[in-house]
Amino acid sequence: MDRQQEYVLRAIEERDVRFIRLWFTDVLGVLKSVAIAPAELEGAFSEGIGFDGSSIEGLARVSESDLVAKPDPSTFQVLPWRGGKHGTARMFCDILTPDGEPAAADPRNVLKRALAKAADAGFTFYTHPEIEFYLFQPQENETDPLVPIDNAGYFDHVARGQGHDFRRAAITLLESMGISVEFSHHEAGPGQNEIDLRYADALSTADNIMTFRSVVKEVSIEQGFVASFMPKPMAGQPGSGMHTHLSLFEGDTNVFHAPGSKYGLSTTARQFMAGLLVHSGEITAVANQFVNSYKRLWGGQEAPSYKTWGHNNRSALLRVPMYKPNKGQSARIEYRGMDSAANPYLALAVLLRAGLKGIEEGYELPEEAEDVVWELSDGERRALGIEPLPGSLEQAVETMERSELVADTLGENVFNFFLANKRQEWTDYRAQVTPYELARVGLI
Ligand code: GLU
Ligand code: MG
Ligand code: MG
Repeated sequence: MDRQQEYVLRAIEERDVRFIRLWFTDVLGVLKSVAIAPAELEGAFSEGIGFDGSSIEGLARVSESDLVAKPDPSTFQVLPWRGGKHGTARMFCDILTPDGEPAAADPRNVLKRALAKAADAGFTFYTHPEIEFYLFQPQENETDPLVPIDNAGYFDHVARGQGHDFRRAAITLLESMGISVEFSHHEAGPGQNEIDLRYADALSTADNIMTFRSVVKEVSIEQGFVASFMPKPMAGQPGSGMHTHLSLFEGDTNVFHAPGSKYGLSTTARQFMAGLLVHSGEITAVANQFVNSYKRLWGGQEAPSYKTWGHNNRSALLRVPMYKPNKGQSARIEYRGMDSAANPYLALAVLLRAGLKGIEEGYELPEEAEDVVWELSDGERRALGIEPLPGSLEQAVETMERSELVADTLGENVFNFFLANKRQEWTDYRAQVTPYELARVGLI
């Protein structure tokens, strides 16, 4: 047993933990959990805990369904909402085959593979997400209209606001689990909130996003609301994006920074951005995985629809945040395409590989988009060489299935499962008759 594992065993005794939840994520980004007793933990560390992978979305085929969850002791945390006595802790797990090999379809392993590729080139990948979500009043029936908990807007200070109390409770829980929060505020939509996590290596960020979703759900139940990470819950109101800030480090040095250059960006940063732009269509299905995601991407309200970059340009897919010459270490770029319902492991993996491709191939960054891309005509956009992102899940899937980069990043199993699942979602969606159609066409 190594030191971290010993630390976990000691902490369990000292902190009176009775249940240890082993957490992992399916291919669509749904959190899975199995609880074990403290007495099982040594075995879990040495051999892992076996389970039937075929019952979990995308993890294994029925013919090779035995899988093993092996807890990562560095992710040990006590769940603060389960009380101090006889408590519950959790660890994220790596999923292995019975031979002890990493399971091809484990999203955490997909991200680890992409991070290993960056490490081969000498890079560590740091990320910080801005996570947007809505808070609604509970509904009696699923089909009832959604009622946001308030009518406030961007940065509004609402006296005695329920949003304040909500964010305060959520942040307190996150911080007690070692997840630092940088900013939080009311977002533009009624009942919409945003919480931004402090930057961390990408694997911790993905784990933190999964924990964040659980914490927000727990607090919303506690406070009598319903929290939603749906990309576009209400037509005509902003969607919930998960803008993510990205940077590469070599040791302690941020290699995106070059003092004296435009916006302080190095050639490496410009090539990384070019990689993201060139491959943005291919990775969209992963960063925006639901039919509903495209209602956000093409619904205006500061969500990007075109493959552009800009300096403080909020219609752009990639934004270079304000440059502070004395803060070179914070040089970064913001990818604004991803939504709050993405699987963070897969999404960060494809973002990283798209950017690395730009560095490997020495891609040239196109001109910055100065205008609000939304306000241009189609002809003006074409003249400027501005291409659209996929406009629907169908288009995104068609673009992804031609992508060698995404196939290589996800690996054959995840790539094929994901495409099949999303084709099915599109087929199901196409068969629906919506209230919009009934209102538009009527009973002609
Ligand atoms: N809600 C917007 C989106 O869906 C983002 C608003 C913002 O700039 O924070 O991307
Ligand atoms: Mg925001
Ligand atoms: Mg942002």
